[in-house]
Amino acid sequence: MKDYKDTRKHKESKPVVAICYDFDKTLTPDNMQEQGYIQAVGYENSSEFWNESNTLAENNDMDQNLAYMYKMRTMARGIMLFTKETLKEKGKDITFFPGVVEWFDRIRRYGISHEVIVEHYIISSGLKEMIEGTKVADEFEKIYASSFYYDEKGVAVWPAQVVNYTNKTQFLFRIEKGTLNINDPSVNESFDPDKVRVPFRNFIYIGDSDTDIPCMKLVTSNGGHSIAVYNPTTGDKTQAYKMMREGRIKYYAPADYSEGKELDEIVKSIIDRTAANEKLERIFSDKIKEQRSADENQSKEDRAKAEMILALENSRNFATTHSVIAQLKSVADWSQAESDELFRIGAENSQVKGVLRDYDVKKFYQKLLGKAKCLNDNAKQVKDIIEGTLS
Ligand SMILES: [Mg+2]
Repeated sequence: MKDYKDTRKHKESKPVVAICYDFDKTLTPDNMQEQGYIQAVGYENSSEFWNESNTLAENNDMDQNLAYMYKMRTMARGIMLFTKETLKEKGKDITFFPGVVEWFDRIRRYGISHEVIVEHYIISSGLKEMIEGTKVADEFEKIYASSFYYDEKGVAVWPAQVVNYTNKTQFLFRIEKGTLNINDPSVNESFDPDKVRVPFRNFIYIGDSDTDIPCMKLVTSNGGHSIAVYNPTTGDKTQAYKMMREGRIKYYAPADYSEGKELDEIVKSIIDRTAANEKLERIFSDKIKEQRSADENQSKEDRAKAEMILALENSRNFATTHSVIAQLKSVADWSQAESDELFRIGAENSQVKGVLRDYDVKKFYQKLLGKAKCLNDNAKQVKDIIEGTLS
């Protein structure tokens, strides 16, 4: 079995913000197949192609994406060689929403200036090969999309991957854990929260339609940020309002990726917040580690004694003070430092000082005084109060 270690990403010292994009109608105004391919295989109207493809799916209980992949392959017969190169070539015709081409590098650099690593990922039901033909293909850490298996002549013969709206979510877990290879089984391993490379709170998911809802919901419900985009030309926000109403997203904006536009501002604000938040998370994690290691270096008995001394210090009424004294009396030995602390409380804490002559408290401190090798100022003061030479 292949070892996927080399393909895994591990946690860095800087936090990572993973921006995951749907492709069709999120980065590009139309479905990718409608931007040259469908016309090239003889359809005047792309809706005819989709009708046929969806009918094929319905009539055969077939996945809609597998149906369009089958349809693309069969319709190419006699017209073009259905190869990876052909699909890549068709990808070159894909146009993008305003600002998309410059967006990725600009946001990556914004992250660097805020001590945050920004990574871009595609999670699309469209075709990987076509996305790989676009001019933004190199901007992504990974493109998760449907793809074909090609024979020795480079001709597509079988689906290799099919990404539909429900299995889209698995890629979020791959990105979260850094197990990016599609066949890496360690995506199912349990990771210590400390070792998770991209916690969900650092995810941004950008999409446009119902097919993005499972991903958006997963990201939003785990503290991340889902954004719906709508076509800036039509300005139709119906879908965005629906997703907002249903709690799928936190933000929506026109799909204009240019500098200074609303989407740019939202994403930069999320990066700002992540930078500050992750600083606090690191402090929290260090404190937890310190406390755990302190616990490991202290016996259960010593911790119980330290907690009893703290309870005495914090006692705010006589009933509590007497009840803590009853617990303290059960301890046979006190270290020098513990004993010093108990004398300090007796001498300085007004609550304890006020009941030093009560029978049980007096007995406890008399025993402690009897065991002390030498008396410091606090111990002497406690002794004087108990003996009535000082009040
Ligand atoms: Mg879409």
